[in-house]
Amino acid sequence: MSYFEKFLTTNQAYAALHGTAHLPLKPKTQVAIVTCMDSRLHVAPALGLALGDAHILRNAGGRVTEDMIRSLVISQQQMGTREIVVLHHTDCGAQTFTNEAFADHIQQVLGVDVAGQDFLPFTDVEESVRADMAILRQSDLIPDDVIISGAVYDVDTGLMTEVR
Ligand SMILES: [Zn+2]
Repeated sequence: MSYFEKFLTTNQAYAALHGTAHLPLKPKTQVAIVTCMDSRLHVAPALGLALGDAHILRNAGGRVTEDMIRSLVISQQQMGTREIVVLHHTDCGAQTFTNEAFADHIQQVLGVDVAGQDFLPFTDVEESVRADMAILRQSDLIPDDVIISGAVYDVDTGLMTEVR
């Protein structure tokens, strides 16, 4: 049995509690959060967010990629968000490899040459937050008056610390 079958069952109980309520499409807080896919980071409860409150955009590392900017532009220009939080975390999977070693691994396992591709690993989590905030500030697609903040979430304690 796959997990998906379990999800279908579990979701029925969730939907029963959820009931029918149509929230507005535009996030109430006007905030978009850029963060990692890490399973130990439950963004909504960690930040006190409820349904309909914020956009949560996730990828490996919580990095500001071209596709992340695509989502942010839609978030801001179609759905009214005015603030961005870059939230990386301790013990991130993006700290566990280098591009070179990962390309070797992919070549061995999948037989695909990804040499030269940047999978956006990092060593210093505060520096990765600063680098991604800088990319946002320099982007022509992100207006200058958008508030951009950064933080590191500690997966062991649940505590979020601002990065300046
Ligand atoms: Zn991560």
